[in-house]
Amino acid sequence: MITVLKGTHDVILDEASKYTYVEQVLIRVAETYGFKEFRTPIIEASNLFTRSVGDSSDIVRKEMYTFLDKGERSITLRPELTAGVVRSMVNNKLFIEQDYPKKAYYVGPCFRYERPQQGRYRQFNQFGVECVGVNNSYRDSEVIILAYNALKMLGFKDITLKINTLGDEESRLNYKTVLKEYFKEHLNSMCPDCHERYNLNPLRILDCKVHEDQEIVKNAPKMSNFLTENAKKAFEEVKAILTENGVKYDVDDSLVRGLDYYSGVVFEFHYTSKQGKNYGAIGAGGHYNKLVKELEGPDIEGIGFAMGIERLVSVMNDDNLFDEIDLEDTMLDVYILPIGEENIAYSLSFANKLRSLGYATEVCLENKGMSQMFKKAERRRAKLALILGENEIKNGEVVVKNLALKEQETIKMEDLVEYLDEILIKEE
Ligand code: ATP
Ligand code: MG
Repeated sequence: MITVLKGTHDVILDEASKYTYVEQVLIRVAETYGFKEFRTPIIEASNLFTRSVGDSSDIVRKEMYTFLDKGERSITLRPELTAGVVRSMVNNKLFIEQDYPKKAYYVGPCFRYERPQQGRYRQFNQFGVECVGVNNSYRDSEVIILAYNALKMLGFKDITLKINTLGDEESRLNYKTVLKEYFKEHLNSMCPDCHERYNLNPLRILDCKVHEDQEIVKNAPKMSNFLTENAKKAFEEVKAILTENGVKYDVDDSLVRGLDYYSGVVFEFHYTSKQGKNYGAIGAGGHYNKLVKELEGPDIEGIGFAMGIERLVSVMNDDNLFDEIDLEDTMLDVYILPIGEENIAYSLSFANKLRSLGYATEVCLENKGMSQMFKKAERRRAKLALILGENEIKNGEVVVKNLALKEQETIKMEDLVEYLDEILIKEE
């Protein structure tokens, strides 16, 4: 039997309805903030990511799905969408000053060659936004507020929002020098990845997930002591705007994020489900200063975040957040039971009429006995079963059985629509 590849998973049936629900809530919230959808390709030139995400990131160092295509071009399955969205803004010449900020949202699959574990897949889905141009703290804060409110809309009550600032270039340069001095003495006992990080970008060591290394990281010098006045001011402004908007946050001065293009405010959303399971960050993002220019756009800055749909659905499942949500829409409204082969064709066109009125309808496509058809209707989780036989059709009637209430009645064809509206719309 052929099975799914390691680290991938089928999203099917009820689970798929939950994914759709979560994505639609997130999309709706983004649209209320004036963001527009971007659908960019899953395959991109590999150097899009080496140039943007950065050589020192886990993604570029070891997680990219990269291959040569038949034309010997190096192609990568996108590990994230920010780079592609910004590339597309540049390619499509969307950077027109009068239109700033440019606001994009996206949703779709990403690919990373990771060790599969709880909340970590090789193919997973992200929803995210990018807001580029108009470089100030109002813009940065508004994107964080959007993310926070989107999680509230999904029913999360206690979200932990961790924020930090990576400062400006000057702040980071100073800080990196001090960090290198500090880690030099501890490097011997640290993981091989941290050795590489030490040379490529010592900030990245702060993001190490190895337990022993985290102990060393705890005592490292703090970024906050190396911020320039400007960087400090920008961070204070963001915090003040968040507070004014009822957004609670914890400053975490070892938060650095995994990608190289960040600078300024960075943030992560964490949530531990009632069962105590921790899936890692359910969403994360930050400000970027050089990404747009690096991809040959104008010298403007942006901010964005991404949320992992898999992690969101997992915690929502654990905390029964879907129980309060009406996923009923995914149920079938009507299942038609044609009596006798000769009435299947009639039932098919009748079903189309109901569908055109908006009712999800299916027909039993084989000639089966009544009780078998009723079983099928139940297995399909239909709300109503409609019986169409010779007599009913001749008399302009239909027998309707409410499968939940187990009540059956005969309705005149001309009254059917009103009857369905009554039953099915009232239910919602
Ligand atoms: P982590 O530190 O957990 O590896 P990251 O820093 O690599 O996360 P980002 O690149 O910021 O994560 O991606 C944003 C969000 O996408 C994460 O917060 C998470 O919810 C989700 N995500 C990232 N990698 C995976 C994965 N392999 N499987 C499922 N979801 C993921
Ligand atoms: Mg990662």
